[in-house]
Amino acid sequence: MTNLVTNLAAAVDEYGGNTAIGYQGTETSYEEFWGQTGAFATALAEHGVGAGDRVAIYLPNVPPFLIAFHGTLRAGGAVVPMNPQYKAREIGHLLGDSEAAVVVALADLVPFVNAVKDDTSVEHVVSVGGEAEGATALEDFLEPGDPDIVERADDDVAVQPYTSGTTGQPKGVQLTHKNLASNAQSAAELIPDGIRSDDKQLGVLPLFHIYGMTVVMNSTLFNGGAFYPLPSWDAQEAVSVIEDEELTLMHGVPAMYNDIINQPNAEAFDLSSLRLCGVGGAGIPVEVLRRFEELYEPKLYEGYGLTETSPVTHFNSPVKGRRVGSIGKTVPGVDSRVVTDAFEDVPPVEDGPVDEDEANLDEITGEIVVAGPNVMSGYYGLPEANEAAFTEDGGRTWFHTGDLGYRDEDGFFYVVDREKHMIVTGGYNVYPREVEELLFEHEAVADAAVAGIPDERRGETVKAFVVPTPDADITEAELKEYCLTNLAEYKHPREIEFVEELPRTTTGKVQKFKLREREERAEGTEPETE
Ligand code: ATP
Repeated sequence: MTNLVTNLAAAVDEYGGNTAIGYQGTETSYEEFWGQTGAFATALAEHGVGAGDRVAIYLPNVPPFLIAFHGTLRAGGAVVPMNPQYKAREIGHLLGDSEAAVVVALADLVPFVNAVKDDTSVEHVVSVGGEAEGATALEDFLEPGDPDIVERADDDVAVQPYTSGTTGQPKGVQLTHKNLASNAQSAAELIPDGIRSDDKQLGVLPLFHIYGMTVVMNSTLFNGGAFYPLPSWDAQEAVSVIEDEELTLMHGVPAMYNDIINQPNAEAFDLSSLRLCGVGGAGIPVEVLRRFEELYEPKLYEGYGLTETSPVTHFNSPVKGRRVGSIGKTVPGVDSRVVTDAFEDVPPVEDGPVDEDEANLDEITGEIVVAGPNVMSGYYGLPEANEAAFTEDGGRTWFHTGDLGYRDEDGFFYVVDREKHMIVTGGYNVYPREVEELLFEHEAVADAAVAGIPDERRGETVKAFVVPTPDADITEAELKEYCLTNLAEYKHPREIEFVEELPRTTTGKVQKFKLREREERAEGTEPETE
């Protein structure tokens, strides 16, 4: 049977008494958790929600997210995860577009649902963590029952997350049961010793995002392990949970690992229970990876992927001969290429990573495209976006990642930057990531982001936003001089601004459009949306 949730049912059969979820001192076994998903699925069926119907989840990382998620799949429905930071306007688009019939929302967020509900197909609102006007509390919604899993076909949609909308309206990414099952398969093959039923996973990645969502399924609940969700990121709290519960697995974005190493008591942390730390969602600066591995025992396993690819397409495994600075090799079952605008292969470099300052990146770089069973069936109801996202070549359908990169002769891939972040200054291309990597190597830099800002003469100019370390004693001029000594003149940041923190998405990506907008406001010009 194809329904993805069959994997959970198999884990329940084998490990029913194991802890599935540990949250705020309470442990829920697999059998109890399966019972909760059954009660949710029964309630959906009683409300006429079944095969193919959309159920939106508007929750932070709390156990009811997992009940609603797996309960919806069990009932044959498809999940529309929504960022709990979104407000009425943002969810209005997601609910309207997806035609969700049910929304499961944190009680505090229900007013946002009520504000837009009349313009959508939402019929039932379920509140979590309390009563809310216009909603049924989850405890009252649940109906006892142990229904069979509703059968689904390979190509039926299981989850429909939305892109974050930095390139226009958020697009619904249709991920099928087959897409997600293929990613579960590769996750099991990539992790040393596979995933074990005695693994304990830290749940700090937001569950509404593909990375956190697949980690909980593939690295935990489909394999009999225990999941410890945390509703928000706090480095000290995360480390305490790792130490107290002796967790064995952590997956995070680079900003989380950077946060851990920048804590004043970082050297005292004991992370030795972790056997694996996954990192992805953005490129981890080489210096952050080195410092983390110098301080702690576990190695960092870097993965690369996108929501549209369910998500992992590349993996850099320390136990399989990784190359630091690379996103690793293409995962089994997936193919990837680096192509020119004319869709011709860019030849690989002999050995990577190249010294970016000496290599002519423009010549070795192209767009990374991927093909495989993990690639989405398409954006929901957007034929033009689908036209742009895919290219047929050699009898295969290739998905455009929008990332610029190169590969080496041994099959390792390197992401240079996102195409839309490339800075064109005075006719030269500057890849912000190269400048960021250099800044991270400076001991006075705790965090950094580089963006192109409008410049009358050069079109754009390179600007760095830097969070200094607490005891840093450095001036803008000194940091500029450091960059100038290490980079070609056209690449060095002409402006450096010290800031307290960088604007980031909940998935740890720097919101460069916000940095640029701020700049444009300061210049008195109208901000552009990216
Ligand atoms: P939107 O597509 O709406 O802009 P988004 O960028 O947040 O949203 P995601 O699917 O979350 O979309 O992110 C995918 C992108 O994350 C990739 O295209 C790539 O740019 C970046 N990324 C993920 N992992 C890595 C990695 N290991 N190294 C470099 N970049 C990465």
